[in-house]
Amino acid sequence: MSRIAPQPGIMEIALYQGGQSSVEGVTDIVKLSSNENPYGSSDSAKEAYRTSGLNLHRYPGTDHASLRHAIAEVHGLTAENIICGVGSDEVLQFITQSFAGPGDEVIYTEHGFSMYPILAHACGATPVKVKERERVVDVDAILKACNKKTRIVFIANPANPTGTMIGANEVARLADGLPKGALLVLDGAYAEYVEGYDGGAALVEGRDNVIMTRTFSKIHGLGGLRIGWGYAPKDIIDVLNRVRQPFNLSDIQLNVAEAAVRDTNFVEKCRVDNARMRAWLAEALAELGVPSDTSCANFILARFASEQEATDCDEYLKTKGVIVRKVAGYGLPNCLRITVGDESGCRRVAHAVKSFKEQAV
Ligand SMILES: *Cc1c(COP(=O)(O)O)cnc(C)c1O
Repeated sequence: MSRIAPQPGIMEIALYQGGQSSVEGVTDIVKLSSNENPYGSSDSAKEAYRTSGLNLHRYPGTDHASLRHAIAEVHGLTAENIICGVGSDEVLQFITQSFAGPGDEVIYTEHGFSMYPILAHACGATPVKVKERERVVDVDAILKACNKKTRIVFIANPANPTGTMIGANEVARLADGLPKGALLVLDGAYAEYVEGYDGGAALVEGRDNVIMTRTFSKIHGLGGLRIGWGYAPKDIIDVLNRVRQPFNLSDIQLNVAEAAVRDTNFVEKCRVDNARMRAWLAEALAELGVPSDTSCANFILARFASEQEATDCDEYLKTKGVIVRKVAGYGLPNCLRITVGDESGCRRVAHAVKSFKEQAV
């Protein structure tokens, strides 16, 4: 240990585990471990990428005005209430850095996204994990865990890795029941997969304590680009902009994201195809004795009889070139999270689980 000590909390951070993308000795891989879009990104986004980047010697703009206006137009929001970041992860970091510190508590839930405790520790705050009810966020349990030290409550809706969701009335009850001085962060990474859902934008607009975050990494198929955004009351956006580095996003990121958000046909097509293949996959697995909760996202949480069976299946799938996600670290040791692929990806994982079950008996 160096005698130069890091800030409090930093050494508590368990490094984020990304989805595996290769298996030694296996070449034909289908990666269903990171909730990536099996259809890639939209043609207009790819075209914007090709035609960007000829001005590499120029600094990008700092206010992201063009992208914020495009997002506002497409989603029916107010551009000045939007902030853009390097993935929604960066926006979540702005929030913790700005509103929590040593002595403060940051609430997340039992199977919540692993970035939440990481971000809380990074700013010296104390992450507080609250029980869920059968893999669903429990509003009453969260409200009970709140106290005067609570500064932030993180929930993803739909949630990762469970895929479950709570209704707008429940989210509103949560926002309205928080102590004064506590913010509700609604992580809407999977919002576009839910038909007609605004990700919580209306809840933001009616209150002073709610922030919504969104990403280009999931339905827009731009995880490699690293861009996301947040929507919040103007005074909160003003705070977050103070910790945002002025040049956090390149012109390439901004241009590609703008083309992507405007391609609403692509988003709609991905939503519909995802819903169709998700239903197919859930049923195919259920017939093999592997149930899952109804998912509202682009993955399903497959439940096995035991931790041993989940582990064995995961190993078996790898030998067949099918990579899914172990979620023991999320308190779900008997489950595997499987991204909904395209038709061939879904058939392949279902077929591999079937042969796993057959060879196991
Ligand atoms: C994938 C995901 C994100 C997105 O992170 P980016 O930094 O935007 O790529 C955020 N929250 C949850 C719950 C996710 O699953």
